[in-house]
Amino acid sequence: MNKITKELRVYGIVQGVGFRPTVDRHAHTAGITGTVCNKGPYVEVMVQGTEEGVTKFVDLLNHEPPRRAAILKIDEKDVEDAPEYDAFTIIESKRISGEIFISPDIAICEDCQRELYDPKDRRYLHPFINCTSCGPRLTILDELPYDRERTSMKRFPMCPTCAHEYHDPASRRYDAQPVCCNECGPEVFILDTDMKGREAITYARKMLIEGKIVAIKGIGGFHLACDATNNEAVQLLRRRKHRPVKPFALMMRNQARLEKECMVTDEWDVILGHQKPIVLLPKKEGSSVAEAVAPGNPKIGVMLPYAPLQCLLFDYDDGLKTPEILVMTSANISGAPIVHNDEEARSQILNLTDCIMTHNRDIRIRCDDTVMDFYHHEPYMIRRSRGYAPLPYILTGDYQGRVLAVGGELKNTFCLGINNLMYPSSYIGDLSDLRTVDALKETISRFEELLEMTPDIIACDAHPNYQSNRVAHEYGLPVVEIQHHYAHIVSCMAENDCHDQVIGVSFDGTGYGLDETIWGGEFLICDEEDFTRAGHISRFLQIGGDCASKEGWRIAVSMIYGLYRDEEKTLEIVNRLQLCEEKAAKVIMKQYERKINSVTSTSAGRLFDAVSAILRIRKASTYESEASTMLQFEAQKYHEDLEYKESLVKDHVLRTDKIFKQLLTLKLQEGDSSKLAYLFHKMLAEGIVEMCHILREDTSLNTVALSGGVFQNTLLLELCETKLKEDKFDVLIHHLVPPNDGGIALGQAVVAMNRYMKGEY
Ligand code: ZN
Ligand code: ZN
Ligand code: FE
Repeated sequence: MNKITKELRVYGIVQGVGFRPTVDRHAHTAGITGTVCNKGPYVEVMVQGTEEGVTKFVDLLNHEPPRRAAILKIDEKDVEDAPEYDAFTIIESKRISGEIFISPDIAICEDCQRELYDPKDRRYLHPFINCTSCGPRLTILDELPYDRERTSMKRFPMCPTCAHEYHDPASRRYDAQPVCCNECGPEVFILDTDMKGREAITYARKMLIEGKIVAIKGIGGFHLACDATNNEAVQLLRRRKHRPVKPFALMMRNQARLEKECMVTDEWDVILGHQKPIVLLPKKEGSSVAEAVAPGNPKIGVMLPYAPLQCLLFDYDDGLKTPEILVMTSANISGAPIVHNDEEARSQILNLTDCIMTHNRDIRIRCDDTVMDFYHHEPYMIRRSRGYAPLPYILTGDYQGRVLAVGGELKNTFCLGINNLMYPSSYIGDLSDLRTVDALKETISRFEELLEMTPDIIACDAHPNYQSNRVAHEYGLPVVEIQHHYAHIVSCMAENDCHDQVIGVSFDGTGYGLDETIWGGEFLICDEEDFTRAGHISRFLQIGGDCASKEGWRIAVSMIYGLYRDEEKTLEIVNRLQLCEEKAAKVIMKQYERKINSVTSTSAGRLFDAVSAILRIRKASTYESEASTMLQFEAQKYHEDLEYKESLVKDHVLRTDKIFKQLLTLKLQEGDSSKLAYLFHKMLAEGIVEMCHILREDTSLNTVALSGGVFQNTLLLELCETKLKEDKFDVLIHHLVPPNDGGIALGQAVVAMNRYMKGEY
């Protein structure tokens, strides 16, 4: 029979996940011969056999990859004049340079979890148990290739037994870089005390039982934990953190507990999977989660333990019974990056906590928990970080160049682009705090080292006062400034591997517009190189500078005055809706007339805040998007559908002033807030779709991309997407890249890459 030979290059997370043994197994099943070799950037497999055998092997590889591997692509090439292979063999690594994939951190696997609680196992209750399929990766890495010498496990030499497992291809720990045991692994201790090991763990557990606040070092940083069923403990944490109502994330003991507390439908795969993000789930009636965890919020953010030390908080052999639900919120001072070493813990969170449980395995790169919502049974990312970063996106097409995109100002992430591979970073945070700016610079240089790249060009937001813009200019390299809402749309295109021109609907908070007004409710005709602004929502005057984004009532008063331009009428409405004191309203009207402390705006986010205020849902926000989120929840309480047929677009302006006026009138007639909140979503969606029709007429484009922070609102998303599809549009939405500012770096990187290839810089 005729034999054929193929060379396969397998790209993706193929290092340190038991890849080569799996390939070996599949080769035997398929009855083929050849070799497998880890080249660093990819795994090279030479396969020789009958055409049938080779096809079977490729199928097996595609459909039954090693459990923790993420295969991004397989390149196949026929090989002529290949030598004859007698068997299938693993060849030792010869590293070459090229595309690089770094594994994200992997949550503890079922096998390790079983061993952790097996009294006969040598890793019984070992807080750092891991194996080839699980454990920290990105967060302990110094440089590539990924082996122990280049991780923060370097200082823990393996004991002979661990070393044996590490070198034995038949072991579950073959080639597992962080492998260790109770003999040779890192150690847990209570910071600045003599308590360590068992004593430390029991002490922390006791504190949790007593309703105290405990800081715990995890995989990508510290958490602050307390008993989430104890309202007083949660309130104590709120007072200390100066965080009045913003929801806290929870960690639950196990699947059974989670099922008791939350409604789970399609989310199990993700909840139980190896990334273990925080998943937003509806709280069940009668849940024992304290009201203070997420006041007024029908959903709670929940995850299962993903580090062995976290498992030990819930189950240990000290006879104590700890709470089954813990608050697990990132340990930081509001605005600052997540605390990731003892020194930061001492200087920043000591006074927030009753004890700090830490350990001596260093965290090299901070990595916050990922936060995920669900939309139409699919993940819909809110914050892409641990477990996902830094997996790249592969763009189809010929991209050449090296780009650093520094991202936006809030929820900052950055993105490195190397040819057609785009690597979004882990979550950095809000750059209003200078410590976060430092964290951004530090993480950029770590990623540049890991990916062995120096950029040709830097991309940043066009806002001249953004810290990220300043950071971009510090490199002394060419800088491309990219309009904020355009970057949102390109990030949505890139995630969907779309390279054609689209109608972009960018509904967002605020971003710097090219005409120096504030943009945020935008219709853009975009491709990867450039865009034009084809429409927007009604302009209004945003008064009050920085306060405007926190205090929706200010926008509401300005909008009401803008509608009537009548002081008396405005005051009457303000009083009836109890928006603010008369004095405050008068100040706003004066500023309106004199254009003081005010800026023209088309921000959709601020429109939501204003509507939330006039419907008496939230007058102001204590955290970003509080008012608009509560408006969405109120709308979701209304379960009937409303017809809305009036035209809302004139001269490429979506007349949100008309929408606002109608809602105002109905509210003043004692309209029901839930119904009006729903009506607002409905009208806005109808207006968006109407505008898309007009733009389709204008341009004959048929694809619409929906992005921007406002599209975190899944009600608005659903109303828009459903109607657009009914009307035969192709609709692009986000999945694993956040629609909010955490996603824009990807869009920036793609645009900069295109400009660079055109030779503009
Ligand atoms: Zn494991
Ligand atoms: Zn050991
Ligand atoms: Fe934005």
